[in-house]
Amino acid sequence: MYDVIILGSGPSGLTAAIYAARAKLKTLVLIGPMVGGQIALTHQVDNYPGFPDGLTGPELTDRFKAHAEKFGAEFLDAEATGVDFGSSPYKVWVGEKLLEASSIILATGMTHKRLGVPGEDRLFGRGVFVCATCDALLYEDKKAVVVGGGDSAVQEAIDLAKFASEVTIVHRRDELRACRCLVDKAVSEPKIKFLYSTVVEEIIGEKRVQQVKLRDLKTGAISVIASDGVLLAIGWDPNTGIYRGQLDMDESGYLETFGVKTKKPGVFVAGDLMDKDYRQVVTSCGSGCAAALEASHWLEVQHNL
Ligand code: NAP
Repeated sequence: MYDVIILGSGPSGLTAAIYAARAKLKTLVLIGPMVGGQIALTHQVDNYPGFPDGLTGPELTDRFKAHAEKFGAEFLDAEATGVDFGSSPYKVWVGEKLLEASSIILATGMTHKRLGVPGEDRLFGRGVFVCATCDALLYEDKKAVVVGGGDSAVQEAIDLAKFASEVTIVHRRDELRACRCLVDKAVSEPKIKFLYSTVVEEIIGEKRVQQVKLRDLKTGAISVIASDGVLLAIGWDPNTGIYRGQLDMDESGYLETFGVKTKKPGVFVAGDLMDKDYRQVVTSCGSGCAAALEASHWLEVQHNL
C-alpha cells in the first residue's frame, strides 16, 4: 500500500516523485514505456534552467531519477494496464499484479499522432519514424521528409540534418508555427528545404520507404519525391485510454482537469496531460511539483479526519 502511485516517468512524473518522496510519502513510480518519456528522446535540452551549456535528454532524465531515488522513491519498470478510482484506496493493475495507493498522480503524457495515409502503418519502423535522436544515424547521407510545422518538426529536421544529405519539411500551411529561434536555425541549414501548403498523400515503398506522394493544397498538383524516410511530427494524442470510464475526458481523450486536480479527490494530473499550451520540460516539472504538493496536502487532510 503506497501513499502515492505516480503513473509515468517523464519530467512531470519524476519531479512529482522527488517532491512526494522528500515529503516522506511512500511513493511508487510506474515507469511506463520508457524512463524519461519524450524528453529521453531529445538530443539536446538547451533551455532547462541551471544548465547553460545544455545537456542531453537522457542525462537530464538520469539526474531527475537519481534525485527521486535519493529521497526514497521506488520504481517499477512497468506500465499500468488498468485502474479503479471508484473508492480509496485506489487500485492500479500491472497485468495480474494489483497495487494500491491513497492518492494517484497521472503523468502518462502523449503519443505521436499518425497521418492516416496509405503506406504509413505498413512502413512504420521501415522508414516511417517519429524520433530523429533515435533513428538519425540510419539516414546518414540519405534523404528524409519531416511532416509538420511545429517546434517538434523543425527540431527533428535540425537533428536529422546532422546526418542526412537532405531534409524536406512538408507543412500543410504556408507558415510554420514553430518558434523563431528554431526556424532561424533551420533556415540557416542548407540541407533543410521547406514545402509549404503541401500534404502527404501516400508513403510508397516495398520493404522500406522509397518515395512520398505529395499534394499541393493551392494548385492541387500531385508530385512524387524520392525519400528514404518520413518522420511524423504532427502532434500528439493523450495517453488516457486506461482512465476511460474512471475520469471525465473529451472525445480526443483529453482529461477534464482543474489545474493539477481531477474531479476525483486524491487523483491528480501532471505534465502534458494537463498542459495543451506550453509543454516544456520546465513547465512539466512545475506541474509535477504542484501535483505532489496537492497529493501531500490531500493525504494530510485524510489522516486528520
Ligand atoms: P504542434 O505544435 O501541435 O504542431 C503540430 C504540427 O503538425 C502543426 O504544424 C500542425 O499544422 C501539423 N499537423 C497536425 N496534424 C496534421 C495532419 N493531420 N497533417 C499534416 N500536418 C498536421 O506539436 P509539436 O510540434 O509536437 O509541439 C507540441 C508542444 O511541444 C508545443 O507546445 C511545443 O512548443 C513543444 N515543443 C517544444 C520544443 C522545444 O522547445 N524545443 C520541441 C518540441 C516540442 P498546423 O500548424 O496547420 O496546425
